[in-house]
Amino acid sequence: MDFEYTPDQIHLRKAVREFAEAEIAPHVMEWDEAQTFPLEIVKKLGKLGYMGSIFPESLGGAGLGYIEYSIIIEELSRVDGSVGIIVAAHTSLCSNHIFKMGTDEQRSRYLPRLASGEWIGCWSLTEPEAGSDAAGTRTKAVLSDGHYTINGSKTFTTNAHYADVCVAMAVTDRSAAQHGISAFVVEKGTPGFRCGKKENKLGLRASATGEVIFDNCRVPESQRVGELNEGFVDSLKVLDGGRISIAALAIGMAQGAYDASLRYSKLRKQFGRPISEFQAVQHKLVDMAVEIDAARLLNYRAAWMMDRGMRVTRESAMAKLFAGEAAVRIAGEAVQIHGGYGFIKDYPVEKFYRDVKLCTIGEGTSEIQRLVIARQLLKS
Ligand SMILES: Cc1cc2nc3c(=O)[nH]c(=O)nc-3n(C[C@H](O)[C@H](O)[C@H](O)COP(=O)(O)OP(=O)(O)OC[C@H]3O[C@@H](n4cnc5c(N)ncnc54)[C@H](O)[C@@H]3O)c2cc1C
Repeated sequence: MDFEYTPDQIHLRKAVREFAEAEIAPHVMEWDEAQTFPLEIVKKLGKLGYMGSIFPESLGGAGLGYIEYSIIIEELSRVDGSVGIIVAAHTSLCSNHIFKMGTDEQRSRYLPRLASGEWIGCWSLTEPEAGSDAAGTRTKAVLSDGHYTINGSKTFTTNAHYADVCVAMAVTDRSAAQHGISAFVVEKGTPGFRCGKKENKLGLRASATGEVIFDNCRVPESQRVGELNEGFVDSLKVLDGGRISIAALAIGMAQGAYDASLRYSKLRKQFGRPISEFQAVQHKLVDMAVEIDAARLLNYRAAWMMDRGMRVTRESAMAKLFAGEAAVRIAGEAVQIHGGYGFIKDYPVEKFYRDVKLCTIGEGTSEIQRLVIARQLLKS
């Protein structure tokens, strides 16, 4: 076992942190209040190689692994979880579905554009009636004359309103349940394809989350991604990697909340001394630091296994479950350490408190992670 970062990983963390502090930090609250999607930042991240870090250089990616990818998501999320989730949905859901399951033609058409940030990607599985039970998808795709006609609507799609490319799941064989769903890549501007309502959210407000509508949307058969009827099964494989990025999102935000709390506790004086000298405050900081370390170790194990081509269903669900729940606890304690100031928007912990909640919901709720882990445990 080797618990050391490589010099390249240390350099990467420093570079992303510097970028996030210089380019993102000054705008975080303004974007949050106005729900402004940080398009310019996304373009810059593309130029820096952070929008396609895990893909081979031959496809325009940075050729990095999942540990490096986690470091990128952590450092962006330490400053603004909205930017973290934008990059995560684009990379490990949309682009990765095409990379893993697409044809050579699909990979070479989409990956270089997505990895450079020229195009933004989104990934639509969830529907109004099919959330945790995503196999209950109703959107359908019917094949005739070499074209699929897609009808239905998806909900809660991250990046929907800014995406140039959408990977969406639709039923292709109603009688086959989980083995009757296929994935399709649809480009912005395709007739019958549009976005609907953009949600007004509790947190991660600078990221755009919303409806994607297919109204007699016709795409050539060549736009199907992966084997016919295997789109749902492929989605579960994509989510194994996606959960590593939600864990990294949670860890980054928890780290941001902890850093702010440590700083504040040394500056804030009550009863004539810094509150960091009170044991009750120290214990909160200790529990926060321990949980961040534990979450990071769980996630790097999943990332390490992923980079070696190992199956990570159990490990990524464990990392996501623990990191998401720990981040919610940590952000709560961060507000507590700030006292009344934690409740107002002049301090960053108020926003972390709202933003982290997504981590126990998106890409499978905590209850569903427990279900996934239980299935894996009971197999042995
Ligand atoms: C900000 C945001 C971004 C998102 N981005 C995307 C995206 O890019 N693409 C995408 O496809 N989806 C996305 N989602 C959707 C997300 O993955 C779903 O919201 C999530 O899977 C839960 O589905 P649901 O909201 O329908 O809740 P439901 O499935 O209705 O769950 C409601 C409650 O019931 C519990 N529950 C349900 N079934 C069980 C069970 N069998 N056992 C125990 N408890 C159960 C749940 O855990 C939850 O507590 C996003 C959601 C949000 C909020």
